[in-house]
Amino acid sequence: MKLRKVSAAIATVLTLSLAATACGDGDSGSGGKKITVGIKFDQPGIGLKTQDGKYTGFDVDVATYVAKELGYEAKDIEWKQSPSAQRETMLANGDVKFIAASYSITDKRKEKVDFAGPYFLAHQDLLVRKDETGIAQGTDLNSKKLCSVTGSTSAQNVKDKIAPKADLQPLGGYSECLTGLENKSVDALTTDDAILAGYASQKEHEGKFKLAGLKLSDEKYGIGIKKGDSDLKGKINKALEKMKSDGSWDKFVAANFGPSGYKAENAPAIDAS
Ligand code: GLU
Repeated sequence: MKLRKVSAAIATVLTLSLAATACGDGDSGSGGKKITVGIKFDQPGIGLKTQDGKYTGFDVDVATYVAKELGYEAKDIEWKQSPSAQRETMLANGDVKFIAASYSITDKRKEKVDFAGPYFLAHQDLLVRKDETGIAQGTDLNSKKLCSVTGSTSAQNVKDKIAPKADLQPLGGYSECLTGLENKSVDALTTDDAILAGYASQKEHEGKFKLAGLKLSDEKYGIGIKKGDSDLKGKINKALEKMKSDGSWDKFVAANFGPSGYKAENAPAIDAS
């Protein structure tokens, strides 16, 4: 009797763990499975985790649309923070299925990951204090203290092209640079204009900062995926095409960049190669 109970219990455990394995892989689109998606958590208008635990921003809307086309409802998405310097590793390790996180397509990154898209075109710019008069062009940064983020094209462009002599302080996220800009430990924060516009328009920063408006580079945002997954790339490109043609892209731009007054460029053509 006792023995039978034990074996029944073992059978139950086995069944449960088998069921858990079947549910856990998340690769197929149907049947309540989960998909893990990488975004930024600290970029208002692009990718933001709000204080009440919600996720908002253009990348969040794009990623939600793409996930839906792949067969996942919004409730099936598990959002993961993807700091600039960790994106390639997260994709290579399979920590996330795809990343939509102001992620510029570059040849260097393409050695490690693949990109669907592009789905957005931004430009590198500077955020300075409202009363700043000494920074009118990129080369002015050579005598300035500048903050940007480790692993970003923004930091790399400063070192390689814009102002190699700038005193560059690379931090983990752009929001950390804002504190430095406010308390004058740095003179400028550099990254994409779309990101900077979001910070400048936040309530707590009202009247404090301004964008220089310099268009220091072209940043084409792609959806990062694991290198070699051409099937997923094809599916995501198809989803992005649909997102543009059914008016969703325009809707997402208006909803997320409207509040900051950021004027987005037209949607770039998707590179099917
Ligand atoms: N788009 C640039 C990049 O991918 C800057 C923004 C970011 O760090 O996410 O590096």
